[in-house]
Amino acid sequence: MLECFFVVVFFHPSQAPRLPKAGETIHGHKFFIGFGGKGANQCIQAARLGVKTAMICKVWKGHEVFSQNFVWQTSDAATGAASITVNDAGENAIVIVAGANMRLGEEELQKALTAIRKAKVLVCQLEISSQTSLRALQMAHDNKVRTIFNPAPAIPDLDFGFYRVSDVFCCNESEAELLTGYSVNNVEDAHQAAQELLRRGCTAVIITLGPQGCVVLKAQDKTSTHVPSTAVKAVDTTGAGDSFIGALAFYLAHHPDMPLEEMARRANQVAAVSVQAVGTQTSFPFKRDLPADLF
Ligand code: ATP
Repeated sequence: MLECFFVVVFFHPSQAPRLPKAGETIHGHKFFIGFGGKGANQCIQAARLGVKTAMICKVWKGHEVFSQNFVWQTSDAATGAASITVNDAGENAIVIVAGANMRLGEEELQKALTAIRKAKVLVCQLEISSQTSLRALQMAHDNKVRTIFNPAPAIPDLDFGFYRVSDVFCCNESEAELLTGYSVNNVEDAHQAAQELLRRGCTAVIITLGPQGCVVLKAQDKTSTHVPSTAVKAVDTTGAGDSFIGALAFYLAHHPDMPLEEMARRANQVAAVSVQAVGTQTSFPFKRDLPADLF
C-alpha cells in the first residue's frame, strides 16, 4: 500500500508571548529549526499510524537525498522554508516560501505515475504550483486512486477543476472563507460554506474548526454533520490540520468503507493529541501512543 504526498520544506518556529504587529520587533522565548511542509507533515502523521507512504517533491541540489521517495533536486531554487511564530495561546502566524517545490512539474509527475497508480490514496496541497497539484489529482482520479485535496495555503479563484477531482476536499475555516467568500467563524457558518464547496463538484467536504472539531458533508447527503473534538489543553496548534489530514489519509487507505464521519471523529482524536505538545512533526502521535479503538 502506498500513499503519495507532496512537498518538503524546513520551518523555523519562534515562540513569543504574542504575534508581532506589522513593523514591530518583539522578544521571543525560543527558536528552533525543524522539518515540515504540509505534505511532509501529513505524510509523517499517516506513516506514524501505520501506512506505507511516499513523497513527491523537489529540493535544492545541495541536500542529500537518501530515501526511495520521488524527491527531485534543482540548482535553480532553494529548498522551501517557512517562518512560524507561535504565541503563548498556542496560535500561530506563518510565511512560507515554496522555493524548489514550485519547480516540480509534469515531467516529474510522469516519472511517478506508476507509483501513483498503485497508491490507495493521494493527498495534495498548494505548496507546489497549483497546475502541478491539479495535474497530480487528475492522474489519481483517472486511475481510481482516492484523493484528498487540502487547498492550503489557500489561493483566491481556485480552478474549479480541483473540486471535480477531490474525493475529500479538506480545508480549515480561513481557507473555506477565502474560497467561498462566506465568513466562517462557527459551526453554523461552516455548514453553509461546506454546501457551497460541495456545489462546486467534490464528492465530500470537510472543514476543520480547531477545538470545535470539523464539519463533514457528503454529496449523497443533503445536510452536513458537526463532528466535535475532544476538549484538551492546547499548547501549540501548529500542524494540527496536517495531523488531521494525515490521519484521514490513513483511515481512507486502511478502512476505505468506514463512514467519513467516523474517519473524521478518529482524525479529530489524533489531531487533539498533536496540539498538546510543542512543535509540528514532533507533536504527532504514533500508533503506540493512541487507544487501540482508533485502529
Ligand atoms: P494549523 O494551520 O495550525 O496546522 P489548521 O487551521 O489547518 O491548523 P484546525 O482547524 O485548527 O486546522 O485544526 C485541525 C484539527 O485539529 C481540528 O479539526 C481538531 O480535530 C484538532 N484541533 C485543533 N485545535 C484543537 C484544540 N485546541 N483542541 C482539540 N483539538 C484541536
